[in-house]
Amino acid sequence: MEFRCIHCGSEVKALFVQYSPGNIRLMKCENCKVVADEYIECEITILLIDLILHKRKAYRHLLYNLLNRDAVDVEGIMWKSSFLLLFFELCRNLIIHNSKEGLGSSTTSLSSIWVCGKMLTEVILENFVFFSVLLLPSRFLLNSLSPVTRYKEVFLAIVVSSYFKIFLIAMMVWEFPFPALYIVDVFVLSSNAVALKVLTQSMMIGCIGVCIGAHAAKFATSHLLEIKLVDWFLL
Ligand SMILES: [Zn+2]
Repeated sequence: MEFRCIHCGSEVKALFVQYSPGNIRLMKCENCKVVADEYIECEITILLIDLILHKRKAYRHLLYNLLNRDAVDVEGIMWKSSFLLLFFELCRNLIIHNSKEGLGSSTTSLSSIWVCGKMLTEVILENFVFFSVLLLPSRFLLNSLSPVTRYKEVFLAIVVSSYFKIFLIAMMVWEFPFPALYIVDVFVLSSNAVALKVLTQSMMIGCIGVCIGAHAAKFATSHLLEIKLVDWFLL
C-alpha cells in the first residue's frame, strides 16, 4: 500500500518531513495542492468523530496512512480486531437471546453450555458467510496486481470499519430499546460501505450493494442456523 492524499486520493511519496523530534512539516499533494493529510497533527478524538460522521478523508487516513506505516503491525491488528469483532458479535447474539428468553429465566449449566456453543457456532458461520459474500464481488471492484493482498486490505478495512459494534458492550451493561440493535447494524453497514468505497475507489452505489448483500446473507444465515440448530437439538 502507498500513502494517499486524504482529499483527492492521489498517491503521495511522503506525508511529512521531520527536521527534528517534534518538528515536522506536512507535505502538500501535487494533484490538489493542499496538505495531503492534516490528521497527522490532529488528536485521535477528531479522527474518531470524523469516522463516526463517515467523512471519506478520515477513512483514507485510517486505511492508507495510519495502517500503512512501517511501525504498525498490520497482521497483529488484523488478528486482534478479528477476535474483537467475534466478541462483539457474541454480545449481539447474547442480547437477542436475552430479549427472547427474558433475563429472569432460570438456566441449568447444561443449557448454558448449549447456548454458548450454539452462539459461538452461529457467530463463526455467520461471519464466514458474511466475508465470503463480501469478498467475492469485491473482486470486481478491485484493480490491483495482487488479489490476495487486496483481499487482506478489504478484510481489514471491513473489520476496522465495524468499530460501531463497540456500542453493543454498552447495550449489555445498560438497558436499551431492542431496535437500537438495528440502528447499530445500519451504522456498521454504512461505515463498511464508505471503507469499501475508499479502498476500491469504486462507485458508492456498488459498494453499498455489496455491503447490503453481505449483511443480508449473514442475516439469512442467522435465521437458517437458528431453525436448523434447534431442530438438531430437539431430535
Ligand atoms: Zn490531493
